[in-house]
Amino acid sequence: MSVLGKVRAWFRGEYSRKHKLITHFIKDGDERLFVEKKHECPACHEDLNQPELEEAMYVCPNCNHHFRITPWERIKFTADGGVFHEFASDLESQNPLDFPDYEKQIASDMKKTGLKEAVVTGICRIERKEVVMAIMAFQFRGGSVGSVVGEKVTRAMLLAAEKGLPIVIFTASGGMRMQEGIFSLMQMAKTSAAVNFLEERKIPLFIVLTDPTSGGTTASYGMLGDVILAEPGALVGFAGRRVLDGTIKEKLPDNFQTAEFQQEKGFVDAIVSRSDMRKTLSFLIEAHADAQRAWK
Ligand SMILES: [Zn+2]
Repeated sequence: MSVLGKVRAWFRGEYSRKHKLITHFIKDGDERLFVEKKHECPACHEDLNQPELEEAMYVCPNCNHHFRITPWERIKFTADGGVFHEFASDLESQNPLDFPDYEKQIASDMKKTGLKEAVVTGICRIERKEVVMAIMAFQFRGGSVGSVVGEKVTRAMLLAAEKGLPIVIFTASGGMRMQEGIFSLMQMAKTSAAVNFLEERKIPLFIVLTDPTSGGTTASYGMLGDVILAEPGALVGFAGRRVLDGTIKEKLPDNFQTAEFQQEKGFVDAIVSRSDMRKTLSFLIEAHADAQRAWK
């Protein structure tokens, strides 16, 4: 980003926020903490240090292990100049069922992550092409979908439809948020209906499944993209392995519920490394733009 761009971003409060968030997770239960302490990769145990890891977009240069990252880091790696115009940032969860301690849990995750909810939504450019983007945060309540996450994802889709822009959603989620009960489950229907609206308007929806994506997120918009990409080694599934093991009483394959397994079964179109994600998304947006123009 140019100096002037940085100054402008600073005034918009974007630049300072991003940097604050990046240092935040390193101190708090992040897998990258292991690298900081042991100077090795938790997956392959080869020597690895923090600057080297950051340089490689938090992917182990030796074994290609993709570390979980925060939404603002994802934006930094995906959007042109890391510039992102966030919307619906003021939405905060209520406690519709008076679930014990729910407010406290939300407050604690807000403090821990600097986010207000488990998804960040906004508009940015990828290789000069304008897109709506939604990025989920597994660090916030396990990326669970309550009414706010469902609403923000839906608003992102509606905005894409209104502006005629493609939409990219990075998923990272344990499923629906149990503290909001039926209000959470209804988000599956709401977001799926919004996908249908995109379909009617011929707006392409690109899904990127990141580690981990499961439960109701997989069972709704996570599997409804026109193109579904996934990061290597990401856990992608619906119910957990133990639940299924216990139900069907059969030994499940070792790679069960990985992105690679889902690609083999036809649920994922392509596995894309983090370093190739930007150019892949750019190519897909461009390829679909012609079809969109033809339709109009
Ligand atoms: Zn490694």
